Amino acid sequence: MSVEQRAPAPLPATTPSRPTAPSPAERVSTPVDGVDVLGALSPSRAGDFMTCPLLYRFRTIDKLPERFSPDAVRGTVVHKVLEDLFDLPAAERTPEQARGMLVPAWERLLADEPDIAEMFTSAEEGTGPEVASWLTSCRTVLDRYFTLEDPTRLEPAERELYVETLLDSKLLLRGFVDRIDIAPDGAIRVVDYKTGRSPGEFFEGKALFQMKFYALVIWRLRGRIPAMLQLVYLGNGEMLRYVPDEADLLATERKVEAIWRAIRQAEESGDWRPNPGRLCDWCSHQAICPAYGGTPPPLPGSQPLSQALPPLSLSEPQ
Ligand code: SF4
Repeated sequence: MSVEQRAPAPLPATTPSRPTAPSPAERVSTPVDGVDVLGALSPSRAGDFMTCPLLYRFRTIDKLPERFSPDAVRGTVVHKVLEDLFDLPAAERTPEQARGMLVPAWERLLADEPDIAEMFTSAEEGTGPEVASWLTSCRTVLDRYFTLEDPTRLEPAERELYVETLLDSKLLLRGFVDRIDIAPDGAIRVVDYKTGRSPGEFFEGKALFQMKFYALVIWRLRGRIPAMLQLVYLGNGEMLRYVPDEADLLATERKVEAIWRAIRQAEESGDWRPNPGRLCDWCSHQAICPAYGGTPPPLPGSQPLSQALPPLSLSEPQ
């Protein structure tokens, strides 16, 4: 279990920093050797670049420490409980069982990464009123899950599944899918849990891009286009469903390739521009961001991953 898989969230100024470890995908994926595999991209890293190229640089190239946040850690713990819930016999997948699994999941995460406790300003060894209040918020999110799905009637085919596929361009697409359901007729449903609220219109496309990315990988792996992409928003109890088609996924592939080419151009030029926006409020790197009067550290001695490719526009159709 790692908090690195989860989206960033608002951060108090006093939260501590943590060293950047290899992402879970980096630990298990086919290595990027610069020959057979020129590079790798996950939906989160592609999202970083689309949001702000400098943020991508800080996270992926500089690998700068970021602060733990209660919202991101809530996401990690809730995902773990929802993953483990399906280990129980169907009849036992109740809200009470899920609530009972919460504290053990939190304690295991804390044992793995003790510094997480420091995200609570008044916490002592992961306990105290602030932690209790945070655990209550986790229970609320878990309870809401049961208003959206009935896990006693579901038998997921896969949970927290690592997927990867190599495109013809030698770009490795990779990531973790929260859940895959397969119907008796073989139809595939890709499910992703979000512990935040459902997005507004502007951010809906971003959330769907992640799902289409996974759908593309699964299509390439299994030869079948997923019948349904389903985002489960536990923050406000809404579902977002989308039925992808081949044209959608081919457009997603073109978009991913375009993002990757733009990343390579930035690597070769060293031009990682900040793109200030709403997400700066969640960014751990404002102090070294030129958009906020800061100065980025020198780039580490990274080598371009390949020769430059002709540029493509990022405004390719989705
Ligand atoms: S503060 Fe904003 S503009 Fe600067 S790196 Fe972070 S997200 Fe990008």
